[in-house]
Amino acid sequence: MNKPPQPISLHGGHSGLYCCHARDLLEDIIQRYIKLGFTKVGITEHVPPVNDKFLYPDEKKLNLTALDLDKRFEEYFYEIFALKKKYASKIKIFAGMETETCTGFTDHIKNLVLKFQPDYIVGSVHHINDICFDYSKKEYDRVCSILGSYELMYEKYFDLQYEMIQSLKPFVVGHFDLIRIYDKNFKKRLLLPKIKQRIMRNLALVKSLNLILDFNLRPLAKGEKEPYVTGFILKSAKEMGIRVVPGDDSHGVKEAGCHVDKAIKILKDLGFDTKWPDPVLIT
Ligand SMILES: [Zn+2]
Ligand SMILES: [Zn+2]
Repeated sequence: MNKPPQPISLHGGHSGLYCCHARDLLEDIIQRYIKLGFTKVGITEHVPPVNDKFLYPDEKKLNLTALDLDKRFEEYFYEIFALKKKYASKIKIFAGMETETCTGFTDHIKNLVLKFQPDYIVGSVHHINDICFDYSKKEYDRVCSILGSYELMYEKYFDLQYEMIQSLKPFVVGHFDLIRIYDKNFKKRLLLPKIKQRIMRNLALVKSLNLILDFNLRPLAKGEKEPYVTGFILKSAKEMGIRVVPGDDSHGVKEAGCHVDKAIKILKDLGFDTKWPDPVLIT
């Protein structure tokens, strides 16, 4: 008989000491994964900003500087590598990091990779024109008004994503269609020719570099129907032979492992390979 697929998440495990918008201790999150029967998990803390200009509002409120966050990130790697050893007999932890794509970040991230030697990286786009569009609907609409329309905003997002994938070659491409986050009409919008063409172009790049897509479960945690990516992108990935792996994008103990069972069922039903690859650093 075939073994049932192992639960896994290759994007998440943000924790309270290292991320202002997360909660709980990293070790408690790891213990939660073990309790849930995970034998492998990827932890991917957000990278620190390249300078003070890119601090998030919650970080500014706490009077943190980019230098403080650099130090905090170093402590994160110190702890994740220690936990990796401590729990090695129970769970295989992959020590990762989640990228940004603002001005100056490509070199910054390459330096961080050299310095910390993570097991892999998750490549994400959260900024357009250096503004974080997923922080709130207000910021999302601010980007839209600067660019002129939601359509142009989507196009720009997928262009930035293409550049990021090309330059960083992240083993996991994070929440591929995050740009739909506050858009009620995203299903129609993603199919507009200029946008769909960019999606297919980016998928082809993902395939050619043998990267995987994050099947990101955060929307389900927020009560939405579909993970990132949406149905048609998921089906296209399947047709192109692109691997897809669940990511809970957890920011606390309660979210760790949430909805991973649902994700695995969706992937299995669509015929995806559920023998998950071990993430690696691609240089
Ligand atoms: Zn986060
Ligand atoms: Zn993210």
